[in-house]
Amino acid sequence: MKTIGVLTSGGDAPGMNAAIRAVVRAGIYHGFKVMGIKKGYNGLINGEIFEMDLRSVSDIMKSGGTVLQTARCAEFMEEEGILKGIKMAQVFDIDAIVVIGGDGSYRGAKEMSQLGMPVIGLPGTIDNDIACTEYTIGYDTAMNTALGALDKIKDTASSHDRCSVFEVMGRRAGYIALNVAIAGGAEVALLPEKPYDMNKDVIKPIIAAKNRGKSHFVVIVAEGVGGAMEIASKIEEKTGIESRATILGHVQRGGSPSVVDRVVASKMGTRAVELLKEGKINRIVGMKSNKIVDFDIEEALNMEKSIDEYEYDLVRVLSM
Ligand code: ADP
Repeated sequence: MKTIGVLTSGGDAPGMNAAIRAVVRAGIYHGFKVMGIKKGYNGLINGEIFEMDLRSVSDIMKSGGTVLQTARCAEFMEEEGILKGIKMAQVFDIDAIVVIGGDGSYRGAKEMSQLGMPVIGLPGTIDNDIACTEYTIGYDTAMNTALGALDKIKDTASSHDRCSVFEVMGRRAGYIALNVAIAGGAEVALLPEKPYDMNKDVIKPIIAAKNRGKSHFVVIVAEGVGGAMEIASKIEEKTGIESRATILGHVQRGGSPSVVDRVVASKMGTRAVELLKEGKINRIVGMKSNKIVDFDIEEALNMEKSIDEYEYDLVRVLSM
């Protein structure tokens, strides 16, 4: 194995650049040639592929986004598209591809590996919704962005005795919502994993908090639950407390990556290269008990993880 390709795919996440840098630098350190593939699987199919040298990744670590750009690629959902991608990789003498992305990108990578192109997956998504790993690149930065915005909203909410309904990202997973709720002192966290009852889980805790003398109230809603506007109107209607909804959106996907994201991405990117050096292919790199680990891609895609009940309960206990 002589030449490694690297691409970013699916939703972007802060820290992807640090992962690219690590793959390039560790790759060259271990004697590989490293090829950058632009715009995810689209660039692979279209041959937007170029050699990356040590200096091509200078100064990229502090920027959000991804210098390789990312995309969603409908063609790759079909075997024909995947075979086109593999053929193009062979034109550039690529022996293995490091895919930095989320669950969807891993499914594409797994298909590619089964059709003969070795892959390594690195978890890059702000949502932390990849089962085989406790941490995904971008998660810490996204949570800090959301928390910074929530702190500002709480300042104005408490000046007006208001309730803030604050929607954060997380379509399938409530990890950002749960941690922002704990760190931001929210009364309620609504997560996609937890069905809720408006009266019991939202209205009652807010009335109880008001009766305990609180002057402002925060409800964190994960994107996958949605309906922040409607939830705010319902709260106002049923409690008489003036309520405002904020949907934070894509601001959470950008920004300079945190120390944690840069360090984890650097370690994971390096591990991807070490695995290839050791001849280990079709693996997903992850984190377990703060250590970098790796799993077979097929096994990794069959794993499941769930919200920690104890952490979920903290929101209720600590907002008293
Ligand atoms: P993420 O990687 O962030 O979860 P997506 O779910 O949008 O993002 O997936 C990114 C890309 O991965 C898709 O646009 C597609 O090209 C590819 N992909 C997703 N699922 C599959 C699949 N089952 N088979 C082949 N390719 C897939």
